[in-house]
Amino acid sequence: DTKKITMLGLGAMGAAVARSWLSAGYELTVWNRTASRAEPLAAEGAKAAASAAEAVAASPLVVVCLLDDASVEEALADADLTGKDLVNLTTGTPEQARARAAWAAGRGAARYLDGGIMAVPPMIGVPESGGYVFYSGSGELFEEAQKALSVPAGARYVGEDPGSAALHDVALLSAMTGMFAGVSHAFALMRGTDVPPSGFAALLVEWLTAMAGYTHGVAAQLESGDYTLGVTSNLAMMVQGNATLLRTAEERGVSAELITPFTALMERRLADGHPDEGTTGVIDLLRS
Ligand code: NDP
Repeated sequence: DTKKITMLGLGAMGAAVARSWLSAGYELTVWNRTASRAEPLAAEGAKAAASAAEAVAASPLVVVCLLDDASVEEALADADLTGKDLVNLTTGTPEQARARAAWAAGRGAARYLDGGIMAVPPMIGVPESGGYVFYSGSGELFEEAQKALSVPAGARYVGEDPGSAALHDVALLSAMTGMFAGVSHAFALMRGTDVPPSGFAALLVEWLTAMAGYTHGVAAQLESGDYTLGVTSNLAMMVQGNATLLRTAEERGVSAELITPFTALMERRLADGHPDEGTTGVIDLLRS
């Protein structure tokens, strides 16, 4: 009966997820450590449980969205998970997800799914926002609960390994971290000019969007094993270009600390004798 859901954790994200199920007519039981946070949802029709254990007992499907992995263990300490399907939307590492799945099984849970949320709270329950959640773990549970899981955001299943969703989540966030490092550096370079940040932002978004397609070329090289495949800008040329990037930073009084880790790896790969590659060889340097 996936029309009945228990939701533990009503922070910014948990409350948004809970609200989307309420709006879609699900029979929802909620619990939050700070009880006052359950009041608005109770006013909208959710049943507020007095304890996490009571909330867990109320539905076959239990969804948790708490601060971190440790808070999941703490919140569920007294709950009887026997026969429950557990969906953990709390952000964690792949290893934490695997350990939490084993922990849930040890506590008698029926099936486990781990989720990595690729959205911010305002995107929840708004299909046009493009937000989605990676799920991994029990494929059987994913299929059964897919309709309910697709209410807050798109639901993308990435395999039986419970750690897979967290790995996908973290890989995308890590790429974003690098991208925003570059964005920060670019704005720092432009500071003190009369170019308005809003005008420069428009140029940046256009440029990054165009360059993002390069990612498919990296994939083609990784899959073929030929890192020179389709290279239009080779490493020898790019390392030369990097010198201009670093010198410009110096001229502008901007620290290059956000970009030097990557330029240094490109130099190492070039020094290892790969002038005709693109940047794909850097991946091997990171893995070794
Ligand atoms: P909040 O800080 O808004 O809420 C944290 C929640 O965890 C609260 O309900 C809090 O309860 C609860 N909590 C913390 N420690 C414990 C504990 N020891 N025992 C029981 N409950 C505890 O965070 P969010 O709702 O924004 O995030 C929840 C999860 O969603 C996180 O893992 C986050 O990484 C993930 N996420 C969030 C996104 C976002 O943009 N907000 C985006 C993608 C993922 P209390 O109210 O009592 O403090």
